[in-house]
Amino acid sequence: MTTQTTPVIQERPHKSVPSEEHLDLMQLSRHLDDAEQARLAGLTQHLQQTVRPAVIEPWNAEEFPDHLLPGLAALGLGETLVDGSSPLFQGLAHAAIARADVSLSALLGIHNELIIGTIQQLGSEDQRQRWLPRLRTLETIGAFCLTEPEHGSDIAGGLATSATLSDGEWRIRGSKRWIGAGTMADIALVWARDTADGQIKGFLVPTGTPGYRASTIHGKTGLRIMQNADVELDVTVPEDAILPGATSFSVTNHLLMSSRAWVGWQAVGAQQALFDIASGYARQREQFGTPLASFQLIQAALAQVAGNLAVSTALMGELSRLQEEGALTMLRASLAKATLTRLARESAAAAREILGGNGILSTHEIAKVAADIEALYTYEGTHSINMLIAGRELTGMSAFV
Ligand SMILES: Cc1cc2nc3c(=O)[nH]c(=O)nc-3n(C[C@H](O)[C@H](O)[C@H](O)COP(=O)(O)OP(=O)(O)OC[C@H]3O[C@@H](n4cnc5c(N)ncnc54)[C@H](O)[C@@H]3O)c2cc1C
Repeated sequence: MTTQTTPVIQERPHKSVPSEEHLDLMQLSRHLDDAEQARLAGLTQHLQQTVRPAVIEPWNAEEFPDHLLPGLAALGLGETLVDGSSPLFQGLAHAAIARADVSLSALLGIHNELIIGTIQQLGSEDQRQRWLPRLRTLETIGAFCLTEPEHGSDIAGGLATSATLSDGEWRIRGSKRWIGAGTMADIALVWARDTADGQIKGFLVPTGTPGYRASTIHGKTGLRIMQNADVELDVTVPEDAILPGATSFSVTNHLLMSSRAWVGWQAVGAQQALFDIASGYARQREQFGTPLASFQLIQAALAQVAGNLAVSTALMGELSRLQEEGALTMLRASLAKATLTRLARESAAAAREILGGNGILSTHEIAKVAADIEALYTYEGTHSINMLIAGRELTGMSAFV
């Protein structure tokens, strides 16, 4: 007769619980109407089943997976800002994209918030009619060209790219750095200083214009799918290439306020991915004859990530309500961006550790997410700069300009 030993795991009280509901612990999606709930569920399914498995290799190879764009366009993800969606839906959709891939969410976030948003709000009727239809379907991709090689955090005061109006044409000259989709875009939204009045103004420059030259920045350790570029400009464009509403940096800054809030949603989506991957791994991987998930220290790490995710989600939910009421302020946007990317960084460290050696493997999803979070922490104003913006709002004293 053989004696059977019962696996330890079966003796412990446990429930089989992995579920989507832990990724929206605050149940934000219940505030969406039925149609938006169904749309969110549909796009999440596509993003998880089709996009997520298709981006790990391109991430390693620093390649952009063009073939995924039509599927994203078919889900309407190129036009969420202007299709009448609620701010909460837009935010949860951003998070769902970031959960599948942070680079794609960066591309689509810049596309919606900074390209479509700028043309919609600050463009002329002609510009809206010319550019928006193909942007909405992702047949046209835009690049947002603000940062320069010598001016990152101090871009407002330092921006050196010049624009001179002469004989009915603008001549724009300068260099830009870190420009997302700079090599693949059809249209560049270029910020340049008008030599006549010294103000920073916005221009729509088709990338086929002679004198637009972009080269990919290789070797990024995060957002490796996003094709960031150095851009050299010596272009001449018609007088009506200027965005009539983009007449000073304060206008640009207003746009950046909304896009900071959008980075908060990216931090939510990235943390959803972290929790998803780490909790799945912890349930499956056994050490000492029992799943990792049954160890107290592993549970503490998972609870830390879940707690950070819940706090991040709740904050973004409230922020989207304020946004709907037109009450998004620079303080709220900067604090959300800085705080949530800090929490995401903390979550990345905890979640990555749960995977042991696999947690530092570049071919494993968790390392990809953790590395992408470093970029979130850095762009749209670094963490420090967003804290300083918040500090200025809180004290009335600027510590950095
Ligand atoms: C992946 C990625 C994608 C990007 N995409 C785009 C894009 O599409 N379009 C675009 O225009 N730009 C883009 N950027 C640029 C981004 O916004 C800048 O990198 C960012 O603003 C920081 O500028 P910098 O890299 O020049 O750093 P710097 O400004 O040189 O800062 C270096 C360090 O010094 C700190 N620092 C600077 N000033 C102060 C101060 N006064 N007090 C305390 N600390 C300070 C910063 O916080 C940072 O830690 C992207 C950047 C990255 C990394």
